[in-house]
Amino acid sequence: MIARVTLEIALRKEFDYFIPPELADQVDVGSRVQVPFGSRKVLGCVTGLAEESAHATLKPILKVIGAQTLVTPKILKLARWIGEYYCCAPETALKSVLPEAVRHEQANWRERLHVRALPVTGELPKLPKRQMEVWRILEARPELPLSELLTLAKTTAATVRHLEDRGLVSVAAEISERDPYAREQILPTQPLPLNSAQAKALAAIISAMDGGPRPEAPRSLTFLLHGVTGSGKTEVYLQAIAHALEQGKGAIVLVPEISLTPQTVERFKARFSSGRLQTLVAVLHSHLSAGERHDEWHKIRQGRARIAIGARSAIFAPVEPLGLVIVDEEHEHSYKQEEAPRYHARDVAIVRGQMEGAVVVLGSATPSLESYYNCGKGKYTLLQLPERADDKKMPVVRIVDMRQTVRPGKAIPIFSPQLKEAIAQRVERKEQVILFLNRRGYSTSLQCPLCGFVAECPNCSVSLTYHRQENKLCCHICSHVAPVPTVCPNEKCRNPAIRFSGLGTQKVEATLVKLFPQARIVRMDSDSLKRKEDYRRILGDFRVGKIDILVGTQMIAKGLHFPNVTLVGIIYADLALHQPDFRAGERTFQLLTQVAGRAGRGDIEGEVFVQAFTPFHPAIQFARRHDFEGFYEQEIGFREQLKYPPAGRIALLTLKGRNEEKVKFSADYLKRELEKAVGDIKDLVIVGPAPSPLLRAETYYRYQIMLRAQRMAALSQRLALLIRSLTLPQDVSLAVDIDPVDLN
Ligand code: ADP
Ligand code: ZN
Repeated sequence: MIARVTLEIALRKEFDYFIPPELADQVDVGSRVQVPFGSRKVLGCVTGLAEESAHATLKPILKVIGAQTLVTPKILKLARWIGEYYCCAPETALKSVLPEAVRHEQANWRERLHVRALPVTGELPKLPKRQMEVWRILEARPELPLSELLTLAKTTAATVRHLEDRGLVSVAAEISERDPYAREQILPTQPLPLNSAQAKALAAIISAMDGGPRPEAPRSLTFLLHGVTGSGKTEVYLQAIAHALEQGKGAIVLVPEISLTPQTVERFKARFSSGRLQTLVAVLHSHLSAGERHDEWHKIRQGRARIAIGARSAIFAPVEPLGLVIVDEEHEHSYKQEEAPRYHARDVAIVRGQMEGAVVVLGSATPSLESYYNCGKGKYTLLQLPERADDKKMPVVRIVDMRQTVRPGKAIPIFSPQLKEAIAQRVERKEQVILFLNRRGYSTSLQCPLCGFVAECPNCSVSLTYHRQENKLCCHICSHVAPVPTVCPNEKCRNPAIRFSGLGTQKVEATLVKLFPQARIVRMDSDSLKRKEDYRRILGDFRVGKIDILVGTQMIAKGLHFPNVTLVGIIYADLALHQPDFRAGERTFQLLTQVAGRAGRGDIEGEVFVQAFTPFHPAIQFARRHDFEGFYEQEIGFREQLKYPPAGRIALLTLKGRNEEKVKFSADYLKRELEKAVGDIKDLVIVGPAPSPLLRAETYYRYQIMLRAQRMAALSQRLALLIRSLTLPQDVSLAVDIDPVDLN
């Protein structure tokens, strides 16, 4: 037999290898193998088997990694789709489907030998004293780590080997498992009685699951669950998962990295920790150690965990058979991977669901325009939970027109009188406050009012942010650090009155400390979190009331549930509006709705203050009224007019290199080639080349070309062909992003 192997080194093709007889029963499609390549040994994945090869002399496979095939045929098929749709090399697509720790099995394999008593047929042979002692110990406990057994029996491994030779025990390598949540106690929970909206949603999902896979007549297996924050979506997920388990199937739950808190994981673990549907819940996310990730993954592969919960890459979890996929907060941009393969986990979930006949439920309080549009087209079924499950009212949202707070000659205030007053009230009443500003640092720029000099990053086309604690200037793109000048660095100016302007979370915090000296104030952004436990610790402190005011970036916007928070303040709501991106309005709407949802989750009604310089912008006004449909209607009109997603599809081609002229020249060349290769596609629009909104990042100049088309599949196929035939200068690279979410 011949194995076709896709190697991990990027070569965009399969290579044939001969399967030596001793490995014959271990090699299958999906096996991870080590093979010789030139003088090297490289890793790869068997992506096909064949009777014969066109090549006369083949080298043999050297070894097989892992006891089970690691890439199942279903996942392999999914990886193929990713390679084709997202225009990337098959080996790049394959790489993303296995966690690093699983791909490099040997390195993290923490082996321990286990001894197990085997069933004895007939009479136990007469054994020497030592061996008998070991046997007695094993009889009482069917399996023991070798080291432990040796300590108990006060003997050496040789004794155990003799028993093994007699066929009485087996000695085998087992992986000793690491459980990242082992120390936590979990109390089991029971399903809640559902309200009518929840019951209706669940019934629809269950009936689709009961239909089973019918490949000959594909019907809608995907749903969009639109429910305001606190409407009880999670309870619907839990009961739908229970149904999958009843059917003998498993489930995957995708949660954005940032919402993947122990709190979230516990809700799933607790429900399935005991009873008839008891199963392990495996957690896959980047904060686990490599070893933990390895073990969590294998729990799924071995079928011991029927539920996989994790961020983006958990969509590749080898849950089989798969009954249900849940994508919570489906509008989140973190589902898109920003390096090759540039896949979107929500879209991969839909494709995987179709391939495996699994039901897919997308959930959100602020669905993406893409998903809502698909409901309109009849692709997804819309399920709605219009009210909070816990009978809490939606918070009152007050918009503050910041233009009225500006006084000539004075700096723009951080707090309007209204917000200041509201904070004072809460501090007085011992209720909690969340203040949100999506910009970290102290001041966002350093500028000379005389000559106009602005401190910019030498590597990127952005201004440097002032960080007061460390007293330095920082680039938020490349992390470049510079000292703070005391006079204007411009030789001809040297003005000592160089000024900071623009506002970051550090300054909000500092101002609060002055205004409310009695309050306990904590800031949470990526600067204040030095270690991974900090996030949990701060949230824990906030939960138990050790913090009065929490100031932070989008880190505090999502999914957190604190009953004592009665006030949320959004410092500058329009920050995200003025980005050169057609999704700026959508993002602002989503962010405002999410942040506002943090207020009033307890017994006291919540209040939200939104400070804005463009208070009448539709994204702000619709968010104020909690009116998603209204926002959708007006936004979709604009997208349809311009053929932006979801009314059309986009591919973004970015060229980058250190020499701007070369990058520009290559972009022009690419444009000509594109016109030849795909120019005949109906309705195709080629925009550019133009400098990327962020022209320079980490010393690289970037130019982009945007392609807009009615449909993507045909375009991405032809793009893939074109890319292979391009000859770009060595120091200019091309990135292809299909359905991009970040246009920078
Ligand atoms: P979401 O996921 O939509 O934000 P959750 O599932 O977290 O909402 O529900 C919000 C709160 O309402 C939780 O405290 C949950 O326990 C409670 N809840 C959910 N469903 C019900 C129900 N049917 N009856 C009573 N309380 C419920
Ligand atoms: Zn920089």
